[in-house]
Amino acid sequence: MTQHLTDLAQGQHYPAGALYVVATPIGNVADITLRALHVLALVDRVAAEDTRNTAQLLSRYGISKPSIAVHEHNERSAAERAIGHLRNGERIACVSDAGTPGISDPGARLVDAVREAGFPVIPLPGASALTTALCAAGAWVHTFTFIGFLAAKPKQRATQLQSFATQPGALVFYEAPHRIVETVQALADALGGERQLLIARELTKLHESLHRCTLAEGPTWLAGDPNRQRGEFVLVVEGAPQQADAEDAHDALLSTLLEELSVSSAARLAATLTGAPRNALYARALYLAKSEEE
Ligand code: SAM
Repeated sequence: MTQHLTDLAQGQHYPAGALYVVATPIGNVADITLRALHVLALVDRVAAEDTRNTAQLLSRYGISKPSIAVHEHNERSAAERAIGHLRNGERIACVSDAGTPGISDPGARLVDAVREAGFPVIPLPGASALTTALCAAGAWVHTFTFIGFLAAKPKQRATQLQSFATQPGALVFYEAPHRIVETVQALADALGGERQLLIARELTKLHESLHRCTLAEGPTWLAGDPNRQRGEFVLVVEGAPQQADAEDAHDALLSTLLEELSVSSAARLAATLTGAPRNALYARALYLAKSEEE
């Protein structure tokens, strides 16, 4: 069986003078594909975010290759060097420290430069924290927008969040341990506390945990145990409530309030609780009260 699969990986044509974008594990070293192993063994050179880190990873698979450092600060000049090697007919693999290159990681500028220079770019799919978290999120995440890391400065972050606040699809963020509590609090402040939140921590690793709660509950849950704030995080946040959902929720709230309060008091309290415009809630409360009378 394994030999058959290895043959399948080897049987494909892997052209020379091409860049192979290869996903590597996000924690568990066993999460690498047979094609990735075959291509990493085949290429002449590896363009890596951190050459020492990648050399260590490759050594675990019994592979050793010359490398080019391609990181955030030298991607353009490193791309020139890589293109020089492609001109000599080399195969080059592009890898990042973890997961899929180009996803909140270097790789995208190298891909642009290589394609512009007329050489093929060949993707090899594999692990990404994004898809790993999403596949375990559930049906409330039917569509999503990947945001990655938010700005660290509170003002910039708040502006960014405002621009996503009304998106109906789920929002996916990456976050580091030292900012996780602050970020979840900022998400609750900007998007409202009622939305669902998935805190996916240390995916594929020994201390993996997936916790679902509301945005309002998130900071308290994280503060409940220092271990919950350790490691690497993906945050998945439910999209903005749809107009129809919001209207249904407002009707349910107003009907309950109208059992005890006048139309104007119910509208005022509902506006305070939901943040929706008081005039609109008043009109709706009036309609509901009249329907009830009839
Ligand atoms: N290229 C990577 C990918 O495909 O997911 C992402 C690299 S980005 C620099 C690193 C961030 O990804 C971390 O700060 C964390 O937010 C997320 N991440 C990476 N590995 C993770 C893991 N095992 N569990 C949870 N999040 C992870």
